[in-house]
Amino acid sequence: KSFQDLGIIQSLCEACAALGYKAPTPIQTEAIPLALQGRDLIGLAETGSGKTAAFALPILQALMESPRTSLFGLCLAPTRELAYQIAQAFEALGSLISVKVAVVVGGMDMISQSIALGKRPHIVVATPGRLLDHLENTKGFSLRSIKHLVMDEADRLLDLDFGAIIDKILKVLPRERRTYLFSATMTSKVESLQRASLSSPLRVSI
Ligand code: AMP
Repeated sequence: KSFQDLGIIQSLCEACAALGYKAPTPIQTEAIPLALQGRDLIGLAETGSGKTAAFALPILQALMESPRTSLFGLCLAPTRELAYQIAQAFEALGSLISVKVAVVVGGMDMISQSIALGKRPHIVVATPGRLLDHLENTKGFSLRSIKHLVMDEADRLLDLDFGAIIDKILKVLPRERRTYLFSATMTSKVESLQRASLSSPLRVSI
């Protein structure tokens, strides 16, 4: 199957080709059609599986199909490094549609992040602690318009004790949204996060 067979539109197929993606990986083949149908997903997949594009492509496609909304997608990641990798994937896959991505992670300057958020990016990639800090302290910043939420490496997010912070973030996100939770392992903590945040999710794994 090709990306086009999965329902991905031409400009995003071209971006995949430009990145050297010849065919979808197994997790992409499973997840993309379901995400395009508007389903919430639990993805059991490790780094290296192509999981980032499995959620980034459907989000970018939904962004293109709706009026150019800012603050459309939010991705939570356990580490700075992963946040930058996710942001880079969104930028590369979304280069033909000039997607704006902001990274909000700990250990970096709050003020320049506030300025980046003020420019109304389409996608925000964040570590939970710093995102909460901005929600509490950056004037005018809210998550009210978010349509798609990703929790990547959910097992690590919860191992790092981000559970209470994620609960606070979930409280200020619209209920009317799509949610994708990716995890390498299914632990009891991940299961309770799943129950609290996803609606009738389908499980995809490789
Ligand atoms: P990830 O599991 O999302 O961290 O992706 C692992 C690596 O695979 C990244 O370097 C991606 O750019 C690459 N990748 C993702 N999808 C594909 C694909 N369909 N074909 C070839 N490489 C891919």
